[in-house]
Amino acid sequence: MNQLKWGTPAALRELLCEVVSWKSMTLTEGERLFPSKVQGKLQELTYFQENSSHLGLHDADLGRRFLTALYQHPKAEKTIVLISHFDVVNTEEYGDLEEFAFQPEILTKLLHGKKNELPEDARRDLESGDYLFGRGTMDMKMGLVMHMGLIEKASVEQWPINLLLLTVPDEEVNSAGMRAAVSKLVEMKEKHDLHYTLFLNGEPVFTQQPGDTQYYVYSGSIGKIMPSALFYGKETHVGEPLGGITAPFIASFLTQRMEWNTSFQETDLGETTPLPVTLQLKDLKMEYSVQTPYRAAALYNVFLMKRNAAEVMDIFEKIAVDAVLACNEVYNKICTEQGVVPVGQVKVIRYEDLLKHALDKFGSDFLESTKATILANDAWDDREKSLRIADTLMIQCQELAPAIVLLYAPPYYPAVNSSDNELVEQCIDFAKKYGHETFNLSVEQIHYFNGISDLSYFNYVDEEEGWTTFQSNTPVWGESYSIPFDDMKQLQAPVLNIGPFGKDAHKRTERLHTKSAFEIVPVLVEEMVRMVMGK
Ligand SMILES: [Zn+2]
Repeated sequence: MNQLKWGTPAALRELLCEVVSWKSMTLTEGERLFPSKVQGKLQELTYFQENSSHLGLHDADLGRRFLTALYQHPKAEKTIVLISHFDVVNTEEYGDLEEFAFQPEILTKLLHGKKNELPEDARRDLESGDYLFGRGTMDMKMGLVMHMGLIEKASVEQWPINLLLLTVPDEEVNSAGMRAAVSKLVEMKEKHDLHYTLFLNGEPVFTQQPGDTQYYVYSGSIGKIMPSALFYGKETHVGEPLGGITAPFIASFLTQRMEWNTSFQETDLGETTPLPVTLQLKDLKMEYSVQTPYRAAALYNVFLMKRNAAEVMDIFEKIAVDAVLACNEVYNKICTEQGVVPVGQVKVIRYEDLLKHALDKFGSDFLESTKATILANDAWDDREKSLRIADTLMIQCQELAPAIVLLYAPPYYPAVNSSDNELVEQCIDFAKKYGHETFNLSVEQIHYFNGISDLSYFNYVDEEEGWTTFQSNTPVWGESYSIPFDDMKQLQAPVLNIGPFGKDAHKRTERLHTKSAFEIVPVLVEEMVRMVMGK
């Protein structure tokens, strides 16, 4: 009988603490180094010593890599892909405890000395002794650790199924890891003759409201898209305010109409998306001066269930047209009262039309070099680059001003849902029954994981090709950002998320329920995999 390295709750706990100690905040050196450390761990398993080609590190971007580890049974066709992300969010909010954020056992002990600084709920959980605190314990190093334990057991006991462990960087920012991994999964499917049966993510349970302790499994993941706007007015001097039109003035009309706009809200299977909010609103003036700000930009967050990028752009455009009508009305009225001729009427332009206009005017060489200059600026992220490209084109095409240019800024997470899939229904029924009978655990299903996840890049369906609207209105598309829609369409298998229970992801009270993480959920997932295997 083979001894398992990660076969007990204590061993999983120890592995988790080790993996958490490998700091891997998004866009840091730690994130770049992390996957080779996981590789090192998996190389300790006999299976990967004998099948070293089944363990691979692959390039994502910016020197970051993702890891694949395939356990393949010679006679099995079914393949479950075990998905996790290994990047974590920053730790400033830990304050004087920041250096211990990645040492869960020590941090949890130290917090006892700072109990009165903790919110009530966190303090009670600390006192209960049922939780392990620390950055990444919940979101989501435990998901990865659980998958490592599972692949070890399957390989030692030679389960008649294939398990492909995939762990990626950058989930917390742009999902560059998963967007790169999609094409690798398509390639591996051909190379190893795999049949993808299920994409199983291990993100933790996210509370539905504060204080919620219900255990959930998820048969889909909510989508997210960012309709954005460049407001381009006409400059003037403060002494002559009606000699121009400021961008903040124009922006105020659209922003007020976008915030909490219920026309973006979707309901499916009894669940409803949160309302849109403004994520950023800023003028693009670099320093203070008495010249009025005539360029500004806004990013709005919109959640999705069924809609594609084309449908969201149509709604966005309608709202923008309504906003400029109101804006022009107020503006014209004051001009009439003050006896001034308006500088123009604000128009609504989609980025693709601005691009076409600029192309006709200047030709493609000019456009390419303009884009290249902006893309080369490493100080700017994809959102800033998107806005700056639109801005630079508008500076060259002032005959279109004043205007609101509508565009998309990355990232885009399409919504995904497998609630009506037969296998997913069986898995959820199994989890409910097994959880109840074995652990007296009540398991509830949620149709859309509300925390945003990499499952968005699987099982893509878009018969109307709505994604092309995203492609043509995203200024950085094909340069610093793209989504492999064609490869995503080839990864047709249901999605499911089952992970440990925890609380306060992204907060300094991030914590993992130890019994759920080390004793219950690994067994639940293992038995569910056996059930799938036996079918
Ligand atoms: Zn996560």
